[in-house]
Amino acid sequence: MLDKVLIANRGEIALRILRACKELGIKTVAVHSKADRELMHVRLADEAVCIGPAPSAQSYLNIPALISAAEVTDSSAIHPGYGFLSENANFAEQVERSGFVFIGPRAETIRLMGDKVSAIEAMKKAGVPTVPGSDGPLGDDEGDNLAIARRIGYPVIIKAAAGGGGRGMRVVHTEGHLLSAINVTRTEAHAAFGDGTVYMEKFLERPRHVEVQVLADGQGNAIHLFDRDCSLQRRHQKVLEEAPAPGIDPEARAKVLEACRQACIEIDYRGAGTFEFLYEDGRFFFIEMNTRVQVEHPVTEMVTGVDIVREQLRIASGLPLSIRQEDVKVNGHAFECRINAEDPRTFMPSPGKVTLYHPPGGLGIRMDSHLYTGYTVPPHYDSLIGKLITWGDSREIALTRMRNGLDELLVEGIKTNTDLHKDLVRDGHFQQGGVNIHYLEKKLGS
Ligand code: ADP
Repeated sequence: MLDKVLIANRGEIALRILRACKELGIKTVAVHSKADRELMHVRLADEAVCIGPAPSAQSYLNIPALISAAEVTDSSAIHPGYGFLSENANFAEQVERSGFVFIGPRAETIRLMGDKVSAIEAMKKAGVPTVPGSDGPLGDDEGDNLAIARRIGYPVIIKAAAGGGGRGMRVVHTEGHLLSAINVTRTEAHAAFGDGTVYMEKFLERPRHVEVQVLADGQGNAIHLFDRDCSLQRRHQKVLEEAPAPGIDPEARAKVLEACRQACIEIDYRGAGTFEFLYEDGRFFFIEMNTRVQVEHPVTEMVTGVDIVREQLRIASGLPLSIRQEDVKVNGHAFECRINAEDPRTFMPSPGKVTLYHPPGGLGIRMDSHLYTGYTVPPHYDSLIGKLITWGDSREIALTRMRNGLDELLVEGIKTNTDLHKDLVRDGHFQQGGVNIHYLEKKLGS
C-alpha cells in the first residue's frame, strides 16, 4: 500500500480523499493556498504545506509548487481529485517523471480522452455507441462539410475537439448557417484552447445525461459500477444526480455497461473513470470520458457499496481490483444534491463566514462537506460547499430522505441553493423520473 499521499485539491473532495487514506493507514499531506489555511482537511492531515497565494493559477494549478511539496514531504503519490489538474496529461507526466505515483490513468490515456475526436474514435473501435457525426475532424472543404451535415440531418452541433466545461459548441438548425458556424467555432476554439480542430455531431433535441462509472486496475481487470442520471443541469453544470438512472431500457443498459467495461480493457485503462452518454429514445450515445473521480461518485457508492476512492488508492498501490463484476449489485437508490454557496436568484457565488452549520443525519443520510460553524468560504474557488447524499431501498424512500435531509440542513451566514433543491425534490415531473437535460433550465425560465 502507498505510504503517504499528497492531496492536490481542496474542499469536500480533499476531505473525502483524506478519509479514504486514513482508513487504509496511508499518511496524508494537505497542500493549500494562503486563503485556505482554515480548511477542515488541512487540520486533519498529518502534514500541511502552503503552496502559494489564493489564485488557483499560483497554487492549486502550480505544478512546480505541488511537486516540490511532494518532494519535501517525501510523499509517495499525488491524488488530484476533480477539477484543477486532474485531467492535465502534462501534470500526470511530470508527477510520474519526478518519481511519484499519479493517482489516475497514464498520461497518454488522459491525452487520448482529452481530445474528443480521438476519444470518440477509440470508443467506436471498442464498440461503444457514439453520436452520428463527422467521423473525425472537419476539413476546410465547404462542399464536404455541407454534405456531412446533409447526411447526418439537421440540427447538428459543431464542437471543439479540445472543448470542455460546456464551451466551444454551436448548434446549427439550417444549412444557411452551417459554414459560418464552423468558422466561428474554429476561431473560438483556437483562441480558447489553442486548438482549432472541430467536428460535427447530430444535435439530439431532448436527451438525458446518463453516465457509467468504471474502475480498472491496469492489470487487465475492469468493472463497471452501473449508471447515474445527471440530467438536472444549469448551464451544463450538474445540480442533482441519482443512481441508478430511472426507467432505462434494460437491454440497452446491459449492452452499454458491458461495452464500457470492454473499452477499459481495450485502452488499458487504469483507475476510476466515467463514460458520459446522451440517452434518447432508448439509445445511448457516447459524448466524452472523464478520467478522474467525479463530484457525483457517492451516489454510485451508496447503491453498490464500493468505495471508489479506496479502489483508486488500491489501484495506485499496484493492487488488483478488490471486486469482480459478478459481485457488483445495485441495492436501492441514491440521490445527491450539490449544495453551493450562491445567491438563489442570481446564481452568483456567495462567499463569507458560516455562522451556523448543522448537517442532517440519520439512516441513509450522508453529508460530504468541509464546512463547520465559523468557517469562511473564500471567494476564489468553486462555490460547491457540500453534497447531501441519501440512500433508500427504493427511489421513493431515498427521495423522502432527501426532502427531510434538506429540511434539516442549516447553513447560515451565507446564501445557498438549498431552497432550489427543496423545490426540485417536490417537483412532480422529477418525482416521476427521467426528465431531460433541458428540464431544469425550462423550469427556472432561463
Ligand atoms: P464538455 O466537455 O464541454 O462538457 P460535452 O461533449 O460533454 O462537452 O457536452 C456538454 C453538453 O453539451 C452535454 O451534456 C449536452 O448537454 C450538450 N451536448 C453535447 N453534444 C450534444 C449533442 N450531440 N446533442 C445534444 N446536446 C449535446
